[in-house]
Amino acid sequence: MRVLVTGGAGFIGSHLCEFLLERGCHVIGMDNFITGSAENIAAVAAHPRFSFVFHNVTEYIPLDGELDWVLHLASPASPRDYLELPIQTLKVGALGTHNALGLAKARGARFLIASTSEVYGDPLVHPQREDYWGNVNPIGPRGVYDEAKRFAEAITMAYHRYHGMSTRIVRIFNTYGPRMRLNDGRAIPTFITQALTGAPLTVYGDGSQTRSFQYITDLVEGIWKLMQHPVHEPVNIGNPHEMTLLELAKRIIRLANSRSEIAFRPLPEDDPRVRQPDISRARALLGWEPTVDTEEGLRLTIDWYRQRLGG
Ligand code: NAD
Ligand code: UDP
Repeated sequence: MRVLVTGGAGFIGSHLCEFLLERGCHVIGMDNFITGSAENIAAVAAHPRFSFVFHNVTEYIPLDGELDWVLHLASPASPRDYLELPIQTLKVGALGTHNALGLAKARGARFLIASTSEVYGDPLVHPQREDYWGNVNPIGPRGVYDEAKRFAEAITMAYHRYHGMSTRIVRIFNTYGPRMRLNDGRAIPTFITQALTGAPLTVYGDGSQTRSFQYITDLVEGIWKLMQHPVHEPVNIGNPHEMTLLELAKRIIRLANSRSEIAFRPLPEDDPRVRQPDISRARALLGWEPTVDTEEGLRLTIDWYRQRLGG
């Protein structure tokens, strides 16, 4: 199989490229390094079945040769990144998805869009099932990401219905692991970096907001299983183990053997109060569920950051 991974030099994209290479695929990673890096794909750069194209997918995507899959992951994903890159985020979610769909259609390839639990916004239904339409503020600061992803889902369904394309929509819930940038602003890399350097852990609000964090290998396995199953409706892929951010901060301090304290900071605008995936659909259709518990995943991640920080 020949697979294009847009956003291939990002956190999730680079792990996905490696996974696909291990499964025997020919993989083309495409990225413009706006939030990713060449370092993320250094381990696969010399692989005989891997190639890399530097390109901004918001522009027309020129790519020769046969293609079996287009996996469209390109997009800033950390709130800090998409608040700093609002127009690029809207463009890659809208124009980039249109270009990626157009390429897939021209080559008769199947298409997968990396959507997000952010399509549920600040959810009024808990946990979130795929049939919940969400509670998104279109003009709030997070709207640039949420609405781009909602548009991306809509255009993907339109290409499926109108052009008969084989498409997948994966709604990814908070995912963590090695290769998230130390300063990308997301809770886990931020807390781990702070814990390992003795800085206070910056918990926003009173830390009672919840998230459900999944380890990267579980996500990649879920995406692979979704590629094998012709379900065109969205599928949640996430770990239902929910915790407050304060619990997460305390757990990271303990696992890192850190003496850091906790410092409370203002809660960002429109920060969702709760988030937990209902994964009944993934369980029933894909036979998928997460296998890495939080304790194990955090240990693996902390080890990686410790090496990076030279500790
Ligand atoms: P990331 O920032 O590490 O990776 C995104 C990659 O896309 C980067 O390498 C970036 O350079 C690239 N990119 C962005 N705009 C581009 C453009 N116009 N042209 C080419 N490349 C471009 O983020 P991530 O966490 O790996 O997220 C990957 C995908 O998964 C995103 O689509 C994101 O919305 C989705 N997602 C991630 C999470 C999560 O918890 N990590 C949750 C939900 C959804
Ligand atoms: N958060 C925090 N301190 C930080 C970074 C994030 O308390 O230094 C909180 C943030 O307000 C949110 C949660 O952690 O409630 C998860 O944030 P993240 O940016 O990881 O992802 P989100 O789920 O909001 O997209």
